[in-house]
Amino acid sequence: MINTIVNKFLLSQKKGQGYFCIAVDEQLKIVDYTGEAKLLGLKNPKYKAPIFDYLPILVTELFDSNFEIPFYNIDHDHVCNINFLKSDKLSYLVLVDKTEIFHVTQKYQQFAHNDNITKNKFKRLAENLKKAKQKLKKANQEKATLIAMLSHELGTPLTSILGYTELLLNNDINTDKGLKIIHRNAVYLKQMIENTLIFGRSEAGGINPHIEEIKIQDLFSTLNTIIFPTAKIKQLSVQITYPDNDIINIDIARTKQILINLLNNAVKYSDEGFVELKYSLKNNHHVFSVIDSGIGIPQDQQVNIFSPWERVNEYKTQGAGIGLFISQNLAHAIGANLKLKYSSLEFGSIFQLIIPLQNIEPTNEIDYLKKENPCRGKSILVIDDDNDILDLIQVFLQPSGLTIFTATNMLSAQLLLKKNNIDLVVTDYYLGTIKADSYLDKIKRKHKVPVLLMSALPSKNFEKSYKSQGFDAVISKPIDRKSLLATIIKHLNLG
Ligand code: ADP
Repeated sequence: MINTIVNKFLLSQKKGQGYFCIAVDEQLKIVDYTGEAKLLGLKNPKYKAPIFDYLPILVTELFDSNFEIPFYNIDHDHVCNINFLKSDKLSYLVLVDKTEIFHVTQKYQQFAHNDNITKNKFKRLAENLKKAKQKLKKANQEKATLIAMLSHELGTPLTSILGYTELLLNNDINTDKGLKIIHRNAVYLKQMIENTLIFGRSEAGGINPHIEEIKIQDLFSTLNTIIFPTAKIKQLSVQITYPDNDIINIDIARTKQILINLLNNAVKYSDEGFVELKYSLKNNHHVFSVIDSGIGIPQDQQVNIFSPWERVNEYKTQGAGIGLFISQNLAHAIGANLKLKYSSLEFGSIFQLIIPLQNIEPTNEIDYLKKENPCRGKSILVIDDDNDILDLIQVFLQPSGLTIFTATNMLSAQLLLKKNNIDLVVTDYYLGTIKADSYLDKIKRKHKVPVLLMSALPSKNFEKSYKSQGFDAVISKPIDRKSLLATIIKHLNLG
């Protein structure tokens, strides 16, 4: 029955695909069929039956030569294309099996869908990676900036220290003058190192506020001696205002550190005029104001200055942009507030440090340095792998009447402990490649003495962890003579 039209059509379809062809007359009644009905999930039709009885799906269709239903689902397992071909006498409905192609297409679509999901996942992953990379790049840049800044900032005072030490050693300079310059630069160096360490740890929040009593006059005159020389070089006048004889309870070290940062900036960013430091007591708050007649900070930049690495002006003297960030962290750590109160390009800037009045009892130590031989008859052992530090501690503690043994390593320390009657041990944490905590147990068990640890800038967390390791107290480095002696006396039960 298959005439040339059907043949031609079937040839145009891909070879090897099953088909079922039904011939219908003008009334669309089935007159013949050929092909594999079973392959398409169909039974053979009855002759003379209307095509719509056999394929009800077609009931609404208008047959013309363009008629085609692509991918018709006969049932779950069979899919075919249905085409209508017209010839002179009969017409033909040709059902071409598309089951396999359909399933492949479906699989492909599923794959494309999954592929899309995977691509999206990858896209998100790539975006996250990009962000992480940018963060890393920023951190690297910050590190590079920090190193560049450090080598500059630390190099300058170090050059003075080395230069003036040499002058002193060669007797080329008045001792008093030389020592003052060396001391000033060392103080600045200490300040820089502290700032850097705090920034590195980013844990100013972990700092223990240490409230002490101080006369404002004493605090301000120390600040003046630090700031005055640089202000003088720039011919800036330094004005200091405070009420007479006022004694306040504050965290002296941190307050000083913040005010030095502010005063340094005031001098750094002023070319002429003045730098002023003021104190007043307002609404139960200590208010320290640092005022300058400098270059000022543009309005739109003022919000940024407390963020790390922010520099506002391309100014001749540049810092690293971490001073204010660190100062604000320190201020928060001691429960205070640091703010830019006012700044204009015309008049300069006012920064304010506002500290609430503390109800906490000051932890002022008794100044045992003023007492005569408070530790007479007692012996201590100091362990540090740096001989200069050992010498310094010996000089610091000489007037106390202590007998001081020193060791640069744990081996000689143990020998000294064995041979002498030692009442207390002070040790550095890193002794060459050895850490002091690995010997702590042994010393404490065998000799039953308190062991004090010296550590650079101990934070709350460090102090806690050292104490849980068994150290009796932590002494902060750089060592303060007065508090070193006070801590030793406390742990010798002499206080
Ligand atoms: P830096 O080490 O660069 O001085 P800071 O964090 O102390 O870093 O200050 C951040 C930026 O704020 C400075 O680079 C400077 O542009 C601006 N700044 C800070 N203090 C002053 C001031 N007193 N006058 C003008 N600009 C200031």
